[in-house]
Formats: sequence, C-alpha cells, structure tokens
Amino acid sequence: MKNKTPSATDLHMTPEEFRRQGYQIIDWIADYWGRVEEFPVLSQVAPNEVRSRLPPSPPSVGESLEDVVKDLENIILPGLTHWQSPNFFAYFPTSCSAPSVLGELLCAGLGVQGMLWVTSPACTELETHVLDWLVEMLDLPDKFKSTGTGGGVLQDYASSATLCALLAARERATEGRSNRAGYQDKLVAYCSTQTHSSIEKAVRITGLGSENLRLINVNDNFAMLPDALAAQIAKDRQDGLVPCFVCATIGTTSSLAVDPVSEIGRTCQREGVWLHVDAAMAGSAAVCPEYQYLHQGLEHADSYCFNPHKWLLVNHDCDCFYVADKTALTNALSILPEYLKNVATETGDVIDYRDWQIPLGRRFRSLKLWLTIRYYGIEGLQKHIRKHVSLTKLFVDLIEESNSFELAAPPFLNLVCFRHKGDNQTNERILDKVNQEGQIYLTHTKLNGRYVLRFCIGQIRTEEHHVRRAVDILEEAARC
Ligand SMILES: *Cc1c(COP(=O)(O)O)cnc(C)c1O
Repeated sequence: MKNKTPSATDLHMTPEEFRRQGYQIIDWIADYWGRVEEFPVLSQVAPNEVRSRLPPSPPSVGESLEDVVKDLENIILPGLTHWQSPNFFAYFPTSCSAPSVLGELLCAGLGVQGMLWVTSPACTELETHVLDWLVEMLDLPDKFKSTGTGGGVLQDYASSATLCALLAARERATEGRSNRAGYQDKLVAYCSTQTHSSIEKAVRITGLGSENLRLINVNDNFAMLPDALAAQIAKDRQDGLVPCFVCATIGTTSSLAVDPVSEIGRTCQREGVWLHVDAAMAGSAAVCPEYQYLHQGLEHADSYCFNPHKWLLVNHDCDCFYVADKTALTNALSILPEYLKNVATETGDVIDYRDWQIPLGRRFRSLKLWLTIRYYGIEGLQKHIRKHVSLTKLFVDLIEESNSFELAAPPFLNLVCFRHKGDNQTNERILDKVNQEGQIYLTHTKLNGRYVLRFCIGQIRTEEHHVRRAVDILEEAARC
C-alpha cells in the first residue's frame, strides 16, 4: 500500500516527485470544480462524523499522497459545504478564481516571511504597488495611496482591519497614551444596529468594553441615522466621555445597506473622531464606474477596508486596509526589539508591514491579488461584477412575480432579502427544507424582528438557469 518509505536519503519529496504529485493535486482541484455541482451544497454529515472516520493516532511512518487523496475523496469531501458550487447563495460568497489559487500556490512555494522590508523587499513592494493600483481601480481618495501620508496593507480578514483601525483611533484619541493603565475608561465607539459583529469584537479586544459601544438607530432602509449619531456624540461629550471611533458601513452584512458616509464623515471631522469605513462586501463593486458613487464621503474617512476575497475573485484570505495617515497606526503597533533592527528600517525609506498589523509574521499575500488583477484586467473584473448584478435583477423579478414570496428590504448589488408572505415559522421551515435537500443553500437574517431569507449571488459558475431553478425550488418548498 505504501510507496513512500522514509529513510535518511529520501526524507523529503524530490523535485520530480513534487512535480508528479503536484500535477495530480491540480488535476484533483480542476476535477472538483468540474463536478462541484453534483454534491449537496450544505454538507449532510452529523457532528463528529468526519472525526470518527479518521484514525485516532497519527501515522508513525510516512504515507503516500495517493492514500491521502483517497481520504480527501471519501472522508473530507462529504464533510464539505461547497462554497464553490453555483448553487451556493448563502452568507456572502468567497470568490475563488483559478489565477488566485495559483497565486496562493506561488505564495506557499516561495515560503517567504515578509515581516520587514529586508526579509523580502518584493513582498513589501508588490503589496504596496497593488494596493495603490486598487486605489485607482476603485476610485478611492488619493490620500490612501502610499505616496502621501497614508497607504494600504493586506490583512487577513476585515475583522483584523477593524481592530487595527480601532487601535489607531485609540492611539490618536489618547495622544499616544492608549496603552497606559486606566487611560481608556472614557473612550466611546459608535456604529449602527446593523454593523457587523466584528466591531463589537474589536471593542472587547481593545478593552474599550461593549458598554462603551453605542449602537445608532437606522432608517427604513437600514442605513445609520446621521443625526442620531451626532446627538449621541454630543450627549457623551456632555457626560465627560471621549468619543473616539465611528464605523460606517458600505453594504451591511444583513441587507447591504449603505450608511450616509458623507454626513457621518462631516460629523466625525467636526468632532475629531476617527472614521473607519467597512465595505467588506460591496467595495468590490466600485471596479465598475457606475458603482463608484458608493465611495462618496470617503474623503472624510481615516481608514477603509474591503475584502477582495468576497467578490473580487481572490480566494480568501485577502482584505485590503487603507489609512489616510499611517502615524497613529504604526505608533500603536510598532515595537522594535534588538533582533529585528536593520539598516533599511533605520533609514526610514522602507515600509515594514509588521507595524501595520497584529501578528509579526506575514505571507506573500499580494501575489494572488496581482495574478488575479493581471489575468482578468479591469475589464474582466467589471464583467464579473455586472454579471452577478444582472443575475440578481433576474432573481428580484422572479420574486416580484411570485405569489408566495415578497421582497423584505431594497435589493442591492448581488443581495436580495426576501421572505415568504406567511409568518416567521413558515420562512424558517422553507429555509430548513431547501438547505437539507441540498440542491441550493441560502441563509437568513432578522430585519425589524422579522425572519428574512437572504439570496446572495457571488459564485463564478452561477448562470441564469441556476437562479431560475433556485426560485423553482423555493416555490416548491413553499407549497409543501
Ligand atoms: C463579511 C463582513 C465582515 C467580516 O469579514 P471578515 O473578513 O470575515 O472578518 C465585516 N463587515 C462586513 C460589512 C462584512 O460583510
């Protein structure tokens, strides 16, 4: 069974063996993409079923990769929810284009640790360069370019970007004393009732405390009420507190609502409060000129992030995080121990991205972004976004024609919130039924206390017939 017998001379794979096995794995992935539609979208395994099929102990002698691939097929595949299925309409998607996967492979193969400029200059400079490209591609304000006081950095996820933004805001609000004990008791952060949970997580991690996070009310379209924000900030100041951070969202997770960034930004500027703008999902749409208006108001923002791994064809993890002025961020995060000192850092002419993120180490993440942008070009990326928007319009039309379903929030870009006209339980039952049957997968949210179904289109293999079939399946489930 084993064709690998480890010995002193063949402990590692030879280059020839790597080539052979590597091609096989690439073939396996290509085949997987070809047949992904055949599997139930939502994994059907019970808790612990995957583990029960794995050996209790690790092998004492090495095994062949062929054996591993067999287990991949028999044990792992059934335990997957198929995010790359054209019938995946749940949460927000994660894009996974072939060029980005190849970029990921290159990153792994080069095995570079890019914590400092000197530990691989190309790792830092390609990242800076591609992030500057994206400023142009999305029509972001020039202040986010590396050529001025600000710049961009790749984070793993938007949650990390938000945490870094809050750390920078805290540093600025306390004039550099943010890590002194007791100094931050009075700091207050603001977001809307619709803001992603990562804000509360960041508030907990930084020690501001959940009780110092104000959830501002929203309007009928689930966008933050800017007057309510201004009033809350004024009240907190009166109470002797220190407003320090506002997070506005372009495209909320529940319903893709867009906060009025311009008005929020004017308040933040007047009050000297840090404005972070989270466009994790919707930001990608701005590669199309017709959606660049979404970024109006960003001229007031201190930081901004979006996730190319959601809707811009880059496999996760890949979040682009920008600051208008890097001083507070790097002051908050830079500690230079003796063992990292080097001449390039001392000259001040280079970027050391370790000072822009939580961990020290970092991988060559920009490769996959670079390969993706070069392979598709701006026009290819625009086509991709527009196709999903037009498929979403088709879904909206079908829901509007339906006797059983109705829209539950204004549809936007590639997300539709809708519901069965019956009660919450009927909607829960329909969702459960279609997901358990496995032909499609969608998830839910609550809007104004109502149980609402979400349909998000973000898969590269989704075509018109998949959308039509999804509506047929929903109608069928509504009849039972
Ligand atoms: C998905 C999402 C997040 C969280 O993203 P991660 O990258 O998974 O941390 C944050 N904010 C918004 C608006 C999102 O849609």
